[in-house]
Amino acid sequence: MFLLFGFGTKQRDLGPGGTRTCPNCGNTSRWARVRRFRQFSVFFVPVVRWNRRHLEVCGICGAAIEV
Ligand SMILES: [Zn+2]
Repeated sequence: MFLLFGFGTKQRDLGPGGTRTCPNCGNTSRWARVRRFRQFSVFFVPVVRWNRRHLEVCGICGAAIEV
């Protein structure tokens, strides 16, 4: 039987986050709020998810901080 499975890091957009000054690029902008998690899937169906984190991501340079 052919079994198709995969590991991946998924990211889901949760809309706009707070306005922050980025420690990486120094710009003050509205950050995006995302949820990022590791996922194991079989036949493209997610079976296990772990390491769930809420992050805010700088819209200019992509730096992420945990919130
Ligand atoms: Zn930045």
